[in-house]
Amino acid sequence: MLNIGCHLSVSKGYEEMGKEALKIGANTFQFFTRNPRGSKAKEIDPNDVEALLKLAKENKFATILAHAPYTINPCSADEKTRKFSIEVIADDLNRMEYLPNSFYNFHPGSHVKQGVEVGIIYIINTLNTILKPEQTTTVLLETMSGKGTEVGKTFEELKQILDGVILSEKMGVCLDTCHVYDAGYDIVNDLDGVIAEFDRIIGLDKLLAIHLNDSKNPFESHKDRHEKIGEGFIGKEAVIRIINHPKLRHLPFYLETPIELEGHAEEIALLREAYKD
Ligand code: FE
Ligand code: FE
Ligand code: ZN
Repeated sequence: MLNIGCHLSVSKGYEEMGKEALKIGANTFQFFTRNPRGSKAKEIDPNDVEALLKLAKENKFATILAHAPYTINPCSADEKTRKFSIEVIADDLNRMEYLPNSFYNFHPGSHVKQGVEVGIIYIINTLNTILKPEQTTTVLLETMSGKGTEVGKTFEELKQILDGVILSEKMGVCLDTCHVYDAGYDIVNDLDGVIAEFDRIIGLDKLLAIHLNDSKNPFESHKDRHEKIGEGFIGKEAVIRIINHPKLRHLPFYLETPIELEGHAEEIALLREAYKD
């Protein structure tokens, strides 16, 4: 079975996200742990989360994915910004334990002026400060498009980060199809080659989730603008090859395409139809 969902808003609560997912034919979803542009997290209602867990279990949901807010930058040159990132991620991970065994995805950040090598050290320090042996959450680094000074635009950079993390068993990678295409990995014409490269550099055992998006921009554009499935430069055929690829087909896929719920329902129906059981 294809494990697929989309990004949902946490504002109406946890159980409501589960219900919304079911309504659009999804069996998982992604949500922001807090307002993506703000910093304050909403108080968690344990009964609400409990209800979601029950619903997810009954409906055999794949792993639920939480996304860190965009306001953090763990590799900023500014110490205050780095400290703030550590506080936000640590607080998120504490609250994630209400949803045991989930994924938590974050953008490695932008190194701005001090260079990628220094940026990577800051990210490693962040993770080594925050991760705890007893946590059940797996933290995912997202592959980035290389917009501006983003860290994580190559598999090598992600591997360097992973190699520095002491509790490496708590870490994985979320591959964003729009981002890797914009970064210069040709998943349209050479999907096998890209997967082989990921395996050689990082190891496929670390690939735990896929953000499934088309791209508004051509190959290697370093832009990061998501497009609806089949309406961008990646195209429907390539997306269908991705969800069916023998090395990827078991993974959970999360849509982050720029449409409302109804549109996501159509995308999910199309992809389920195209998935070869
Ligand atoms: Fe993201
Ligand atoms: Fe993404
Ligand atoms: Zn993006």
